[in-house]
Amino acid sequence: MPAPRVELLNLDGRAQLVREGRMIDVGARSAGRFGSDPRAVLGDFARFCDWARGEQAREGDPQVDAAALGPAVPDPTQLFAIGLNYRAHAAEAGLPVPTEPMVFTKFASCLLGPRGQIRLTSDTVDWEVELVVVIGQGGARISEARALEAVAGYAVGQDISDRRRQFGDAPPQFSLGKSAAGFGPVGPGVVSLDSLDDALDLPLYCDIDGVRQQDSRTSDMIFAVPELVSYLSRWCTLRPGDLIFTGTPSGVGSVQKPRRYLKAGELIRTEISPLGVMEHRAVE
Ligand code: ZN
Repeated sequence: MPAPRVELLNLDGRAQLVREGRMIDVGARSAGRFGSDPRAVLGDFARFCDWARGEQAREGDPQVDAAALGPAVPDPTQLFAIGLNYRAHAAEAGLPVPTEPMVFTKFASCLLGPRGQIRLTSDTVDWEVELVVVIGQGGARISEARALEAVAGYAVGQDISDRRRQFGDAPPQFSLGKSAAGFGPVGPGVVSLDSLDDALDLPLYCDIDGVRQQDSRTSDMIFAVPELVSYLSRWCTLRPGDLIFTGTPSGVGSVQKPRRYLKAGELIRTEISPLGVMEHRAVE
């Protein structure tokens, strides 16, 4: 049986617990026991969940307003991303299935909350729905068997990508083309891993102006979440609040025939059903 859901939001850099559609300010309600910094809460997430499951919303706790939220983690120390991690996406890109995870970084200044505008940097900006892993206690040299213990939860992510910038260098370097302002929406919040029926099989979708473009399940990943966490932790010490964009399934615009990129005015709707929905407007 999954545990009751714990969801952590970021409002103006302060951790908020969701209860009955309202937000409980964690630092204030816990009388400083957990502080208000989302990263500190994530680093002590098992104890936090124990406390959170005993809390109720009170009169005066504000309603959740998705438009006011910041990215689920405002200031991760590391922001990893994985390329070509779904078989159908590797096939549509005409590239061989990798034998080790293909890792790049997004820079933290690209992070955005679950609502807002995304400024198009060119006429080759594309969408990528992704499951985002939020590191809890983290660590180094974590085995696959224990990898999920290092994870606090998941969030919905969009790995917005300017394909011309991404592939413009030889050899290609992905990071700049995926790190313009607003190119990393993550939210609405962090949902505790232990509250999910099956943490390795979640449906994920991306719609552009109401037309479904991506429709897959995380069970189709080439390297599943435990493998990714273990692999990354062999190279880098994972810290509380670090994020891993775990790769996108098939259906991105750049491999459609004809190629199809974001246009100003279009609505990008990104959903992972048990986690939530994000909506962003592309602007000139
Ligand atoms: Zn991606």
